[in-house]
Amino acid sequence: MGIEEKLPSGILLTTVESVINYARKSSTWGATFGLACCAIEMMASGAPHYDLGRWGMEVFRASPRQADLMIVAGRVSQKMAPVLRQIYDQMTAPKWVLSMGVCASSGGMFNNYAIVQGVDHVVPVDMYLPGCPPRPEMLIDAILKLREKIMHEPLGENGRKMAAARLAAGKGP
Ligand code: SF4
Repeated sequence: MGIEEKLPSGILLTTVESVINYARKSSTWGATFGLACCAIEMMASGAPHYDLGRWGMEVFRASPRQADLMIVAGRVSQKMAPVLRQIYDQMTAPKWVLSMGVCASSGGMFNNYAIVQGVDHVVPVDMYLPGCPPRPEMLIDAILKLREKIMHEPLGENGRKMAAARLAAGKGP
């Protein structure tokens, strides 16, 4: 009898998946992307009082190539939408998006022609955070929930999500 037949199916893959996901959730680096007032609370979250560094993510990167978490902090104007999408496309995979505040998630009070009524029209969103603005404790809570989601993400799931997003944006497979 071969070793494969003695082991419950999937045991090896589950272990590898857990190790990779543990590494991913413990080293998410944010792309610097403050758009409006919510960004002030995001910056406070990274400062010593709240100290995002406790979860290995004190480094906000100016280059999207070095970031895998986009925190959309504030309302997204129609003019900014293509820029946001380009930055998302330039980020390394796997990558995640956190929509911070009611404006980023749904347009909020800015129900007008100039503002995108939810950043999920532009990029796929993994976590929505309500509030105007959400306090740093709320942002940290959302990040911890996102870390749990990353921990249980099947390998390849992120790639499938991005492929679907590319198709939805008319960019082909
Ligand atoms: Fe500003 Fe409130 Fe909108 Fe955040 S949710 S960008 S604090 S108006």
